[in-house]
Amino acid sequence: MARTAGRHFLQIPGPTNVPDRVLRAIDMPTIDHRGPEFAKLGKKVLADCQKIFQCAGPVIIYPSSGTGAWEAALTNTLSPGDKVLMYESGHFATLWKGIAEKLGLEPEFIAGDWRHAADPEAIGARLADDKNHEIKAVCVVHNETATGCTSRIGEIRRAIDAANHPALFMVDTISSLASIDYRHDEWGVDVTVGGSQKGLMLPPGLGFNALSDKALKASQDSKLPKSYWSWDDMLSANGNGFFPYTPATNLLYGLSEASDMLFEEGLDNVFARHDRHAEATRIAVNHWGLEVLCQEPKEFSSSLTAILVPEGHDADMLRNIILDKFDMSLGTGLAKVAGKVFRIGHLGDFNDLTLLGTLAGVEMGLGLADVPHNKGGVQAAMDFLGK
Ligand SMILES: *Cc1c(COP(=O)(O)O)cnc(C)c1O
Repeated sequence: MARTAGRHFLQIPGPTNVPDRVLRAIDMPTIDHRGPEFAKLGKKVLADCQKIFQCAGPVIIYPSSGTGAWEAALTNTLSPGDKVLMYESGHFATLWKGIAEKLGLEPEFIAGDWRHAADPEAIGARLADDKNHEIKAVCVVHNETATGCTSRIGEIRRAIDAANHPALFMVDTISSLASIDYRHDEWGVDVTVGGSQKGLMLPPGLGFNALSDKALKASQDSKLPKSYWSWDDMLSANGNGFFPYTPATNLLYGLSEASDMLFEEGLDNVFARHDRHAEATRIAVNHWGLEVLCQEPKEFSSSLTAILVPEGHDADMLRNIILDKFDMSLGTGLAKVAGKVFRIGHLGDFNDLTLLGTLAGVEMGLGLADVPHNKGGVQAAMDFLGK
């Protein structure tokens, strides 16, 4: 294969581009994970995580994908046959439901249309009907990466409270954490699930659970089998900065650096940056005359935008042309929206010119793929960003 010059544009909604500072931080000799130097690193990253999840309670860090952290949230809190209420926001919510089924839970899925986020009213109404409190947990994806719709977690919390329901509240923030404002404590979330490879700007390989007191209490009575995922062993070792088994030491070096970068920029500025890039993206999309998949403006995702291609056109063909001609990867349409949408990831270590390069690649690709569109979407985004 001929060499392609310059950096590949990895504009999928995760894994995201890893900044040089993080790559340098990871490029270290691995140390003794039972030694004093490690304890310092362990304590620092565990404390950093509390700031990022905006919580005062413990955060668990697994050497795992996000999928592992999904499983851990369920196995540590629930028992076989427990009912869990889940919301079909899109493909990732569907995958989480699949895990619940395989674990022997009884998920109930509130149907969604893949163009809206989780509906607080529908969740509240279902809980109000559950007079005997058979539902043990409500599980929601904060930012549905398949659709680019972001659920309003604070409103869902209020709906649970208004129904006076004791269910645990679990939220997947894998593609929103450190990109879109998220408040574990303030929003009364019991288990927050995270992953390293999206807003946190790290390579894949770390999974997170942030815990509330209520989640810890539930874990005492939970009867689903767990060993590797057990919070107990983690928490007793974490107290001293250690882990019960070999942690992903070098990824933790990266996590420490990535956290420093987020705090140097300021989390609020990080969120504002993502909001602005998402808005510039939608301005380009509207100018092209294409349609954003998410139909509710207050649910527009700030970390990715899913875009519909007109009927009779194949989004994957467009993606292939863009990869081939401009060395840029865009997100594919998943499951129900396969071939119908492509997704632009605008999260992580990302600035105005990264976005303009990305949009230019898309606009040129639309031309090459003969997708009807109005030229000048990049210019419209420039006009917005250059103000
Ligand atoms: C990426 C993603 C996952 C899956 O994470 P893996 O690390 O691939 O297991 C789960 N949920 C959401 C919302 C995601 O974006």
